[in-house]
Amino acid sequence: MTASDCLFCKIVAEEIPAEIVYESADAIAFRDINPQAPTHVLIVPRRHIATINELENSDTDAVGQLFLAARDIARQEGFADDGYRVTMNCNGAAGQTVFHIHLHLLGGRNFTWPPG
Ligand code: 5GP
Ligand code: ZN
Repeated sequence: MTASDCLFCKIVAEEIPAEIVYESADAIAFRDINPQAPTHVLIVPRRHIATINELENSDTDAVGQLFLAARDIARQEGFADDGYRVTMNCNGAAGQTVFHIHLHLLGGRNFTWPPG
């Protein structure tokens, strides 16, 4: 399913440009327009899923693919061994602003815990 008003569906469809760093059959990744770290990549399933709350039991592969992409991009960007942060926000309290699930992959600096 493609949501016609969804920004990330439009990036997947190449209707809106983005700096794509990874593509597979089920997922793509592109650089965040407002990076919070030297590398800040958003990894999204090609198929529209609005939030974690909309995940179906059958979506395990789609979600797993996002983490495999994070693993590969972290190696590609050179910070796999140093460490990196992977985050998925869900709904307003967590600060989700684009309602097409995406894994934030942040690397290239040290991170604090707990996050803000
Ligand atoms: P959220 O707040 O939903 O977890 O993350 C949405 C992310 O999408 C933000 O980090 C924001 O900077 C990024 N973003 C918003 N609009 C665009 C855009 O048009 N292009 C790209 N590449 N990133 C965007
Ligand atoms: Zn979408």
